[in-house]
Amino acid sequence: MEIKLKNLTKVFPGNPAKNIPDAVAVDSLDVDIKDGELIGLLGPSGCGKSTTLYMIAGLKAPTSGEIWFGDEDVTHLSPEKREIGLVFQNYALYPHMTVYDNVKFPLTNLHVVSAEKAAVLEKNAVLKRILLEKFDRVLDIILKSKFKGKYSKNVAARKLIKAYHITTSLAERIYKLGFQKITNDDLRKAESIEAKIDALKGKINVAKKEAKKVELKAKKAELEAELGAIDVEAAKAEVYAARVAKRDEVVAKIDEESAAERAKLVGKGYEIDEKFYLLKNGEKIITKRKLNKDEMDALIQETARLVQIDEYLTRKPSELSGGQQQRVAIARALVKKPRVLLLDEPLSNLDARLRLQTREEIRRIQQETGITTIFVTHDQEEAMSICDDIVVMKLGVQMQREHPQEVYNNPNCLFVAKFLGTPPINVFNGVINGGKVYIGEEAVLSHKKFKEFEDGHKVDVAVRPEGFLVGSEVPEKEKVLSLTVTQLQTMGRDVSLVCESRYHTDENDIKVIIDSLIKVDLGVNKFGIKPQKTFVFDAEDDNHPRIYLD
Ligand code: ATP
Repeated sequence: MEIKLKNLTKVFPGNPAKNIPDAVAVDSLDVDIKDGELIGLLGPSGCGKSTTLYMIAGLKAPTSGEIWFGDEDVTHLSPEKREIGLVFQNYALYPHMTVYDNVKFPLTNLHVVSAEKAAVLEKNAVLKRILLEKFDRVLDIILKSKFKGKYSKNVAARKLIKAYHITTSLAERIYKLGFQKITNDDLRKAESIEAKIDALKGKINVAKKEAKKVELKAKKAELEAELGAIDVEAAKAEVYAARVAKRDEVVAKIDEESAAERAKLVGKGYEIDEKFYLLKNGEKIITKRKLNKDEMDALIQETARLVQIDEYLTRKPSELSGGQQQRVAIARALVKKPRVLLLDEPLSNLDARLRLQTREEIRRIQQETGITTIFVTHDQEEAMSICDDIVVMKLGVQMQREHPQEVYNNPNCLFVAKFLGTPPINVFNGVINGGKVYIGEEAVLSHKKFKEFEDGHKVDVAVRPEGFLVGSEVPEKEKVLSLTVTQLQTMGRDVSLVCESRYHTDENDIKVIIDSLIKVDLGVNKFGIKPQKTFVFDAEDDNHPRIYLD
């Protein structure tokens, strides 16, 4: 679903009597989000990210502007009608309900407009197809449950659900059919031939090992003769034939039931098309109704598989880790198959390891479902790692919107340059003189663009930590900036130099990252700067826009 925000604005009215001014939380936001994109709304606390998300969700009304989902103007639509899934940072699961019931909850009030189907006929068709195509495997699962005590009924049902993507009730029905039809009759006898062959083979193996003892040689020969007397191929054929016969019997029963159902519907004046839709006078019958148990179950199972919580459906939220609880919250948001998924800092309550894991999960789920997703975070690393595009916001205004790497490589203003990157970018006070940029007495950059500025024009010179050159291999004439190195911190492959300069604008230290093989001494060093890692911003404009050097 494509989303368009047009000139979206939200003003929270102040109170003149108490001298509280209006708060412009979101200011003329224009954002286009393509179908299937994952967009990050990124910015510091109070920049209007959540307010934007809540306006998209319908939980807050815009002061002006429009919100479009595809061709539909949803600006004034109630939240329920927007078909969105919303996940908050506190998962807000119902503690007294199982995971299954938590995920089911949004479905209980869901009304679907759908064309009526002949449900029994459709289910029978699925059942018949499974029995015809996969009977041996189905039987295997059931027989193991019944005869070998290996699986319980529930495990068998779960295995069937997993193997054939069917609902619980259908799995139970298969189980029942297979179960009841097989236990008491000749199929069981046939099974016992198979079992006997297995047992004999086992005994022969034991006898073989002990055959050194002369007296047991005879026993082995005896057993081999007994096995020889059984025509193994014929026995297997007998087992197979018995299975097929049973299957055909079951299929005939299903056909009978289907025929009766069909006759009943036709008697009521319906036609039934090849996809089992009910028609009257050639038109599909459309009804608005709640989902039935099977439909809910199918959606819950499908969503649980997607977010990988299918193992925990019977647990209570308190029996899950934070990451698992957040996955349940995501499942709850997705189960209704929303048009749009809105995530409000969904990872902020998780510890560092789970955060990393869960954000990858979110990306996978988003890619698998292809659902258009808006992800609100103040954590730049989080946004950069999973988003197709990020929208960086400041005081309700969109500053830049691009692919995360592009925003990092090409920030359009000082705010964006400073907001992205760890360690943060190093910003120096600079000044333009004679077409060159100076930091203190040192001319660090020269470009024809700077000739357009008057001498003394103030600029910010921002250099990424990895944008410095130093050491004996850098030619002296390229070394343009003096910094005082106060600490060397080795971080494996790299070394982080902590430096000082009186022209540095921030309170925190200058951080320079270089290869650990380069030798640098403490004290004053001269550094070169890489042009593609260095940005110049106009410090005499309130927004500190980038001065582009083309
Ligand atoms: P955070 O990361 O802290 O959640 P945010 O970027 O999501 O911040 P918003 O919650 O959207 O920011 O708030 C944007 C601005 O609107 C803030 O300055 C906030 O104080 C203000 N604001 C939000 N809700 C109200 C309100 N109900 N009344 C008045 N001002 C509000």
